[in-house]
Amino acid sequence: MKRFLLQLGACLALPLSAASLPAAAQSAPPAAEVRTPVTILVSIDGFRADYLDRGITPNLSALAAQGISASMHPAFPSKTFPNHWTLVTGKVPDHHGIVANRFEDPARPGEVFTMASDDPFWWNAAEPIWVTAEKAGIRTATMFWPGSNVAWGGHHVKKPWAEDVGGMRASDWQQYNQAVTPVQRVAAVIDWLRRPAATRPRLVTLYFDQVDTAGHRYGPVDPHTDAAIADADSDIGLLVSQLRELGQPANLVIVADHGMAATSSERTIALDKVADPKLYELGDTGPFATITPVKDKEAMVAAALLKPHDHMQCWRRQDIPARLRYGSNPRIAPYFCLAETGWGIAATAPTKVESGGSHGFDNAAPEMAALFVAAGPAIRPAGKLPAFDNVDVAPLLRDLLALPQASDGDGDDAPFRPLLTTK
Ligand code: AMP
Ligand code: ZN
Ligand code: ZN
Repeated sequence: MKRFLLQLGACLALPLSAASLPAAAQSAPPAAEVRTPVTILVSIDGFRADYLDRGITPNLSALAAQGISASMHPAFPSKTFPNHWTLVTGKVPDHHGIVANRFEDPARPGEVFTMASDDPFWWNAAEPIWVTAEKAGIRTATMFWPGSNVAWGGHHVKKPWAEDVGGMRASDWQQYNQAVTPVQRVAAVIDWLRRPAATRPRLVTLYFDQVDTAGHRYGPVDPHTDAAIADADSDIGLLVSQLRELGQPANLVIVADHGMAATSSERTIALDKVADPKLYELGDTGPFATITPVKDKEAMVAAALLKPHDHMQCWRRQDIPARLRYGSNPRIAPYFCLAETGWGIAATAPTKVESGGSHGFDNAAPEMAALFVAAGPAIRPAGKLPAFDNVDVAPLLRDLLALPQASDGDGDDAPFRPLLTTK
């Protein structure tokens, strides 16, 4: 026992008595590891492109000055799930199958896709970048992203018990929970990057929701929304400073899924005044409405909808204008009505006066334009770029990860190719 205590004492004393160490042990500390850059895709939900010009985002503005920025066109419809899936697959919603936040599929009668649906059936039409990267041996981690909890490429069985069979996720992922604070989300990413190189991710996603939440509640022009914008900017500042502290170089690609338009109950189209509600089933309402005629009533629905309306236009699915790149997927309802930006379509007239913000409108509307800022060792400083479509973000990520471009994507890396040091 005495001998053990002596040995322990010697161990504890060791750091204090370097002068007595052999020469080899006194040499300089081991050289700091040279870390390879990580690619971090950050989404600030609902961060409208022009929020960057409000003078309240010092961290995002500094990154824009060091790298590149743009006003980015979302895909149609300008909703959260369709656009997040576009950003990571490089396909428009018509092709990747997440055609709205809520929809049905004729192949699954009686079921409805919602933002809680994680059955791979809904998601399998397009491969997300974290799966492509994992297949290429690049470790990935997702600190929230729509679809990141899905066993992509697998299938869901209900019997003998509900489970996913097969499929792939990021090596590290988290089930979405809005209660996890933005600072906790940044801390989780930094903790992943603290790991030894062998288990450290090289592609990370990070998602913030506070700007969208404030934009819905208070509208895009309101001190509460400015406070949420400033808060998200400070989260970006925290991420940047913690990466610097860790000595971790990063190519940051910071995007939004869509913008935000001011709405008011006084700008509502009551659908029951346009067509008798007994003639159709109503799916989505809001910036757009999805309508399925009941059996044998299609001619009456068509007659009521397919004519000029104030502040709204309706089409048969297959007649939706080509520029929206939407209308061939069977998950889109047979009739689709789009409100003028800032208006809303409701089943019946509202009973109380409300105002706030919404999105889902025409993706060419300036109010729907989304944030894009990118900076890091692989990106040459080039200032503000001309606007581009968000289907081009996945090709940029492929370049940053040295992955080959997809042959069947809807976008390409043309806006960025001359600006990348890796090209
Ligand atoms: P939207 O209705 O289009 O405005 O959707 C925005 C909402 O989507 C936010 O309030 C988020 O809380 C929610 N959301 C974002 N990511 C996820 C996710 N991975 N799973 C479920 N809900 C999410
Ligand atoms: Zn959103
Ligand atoms: Zn939203």
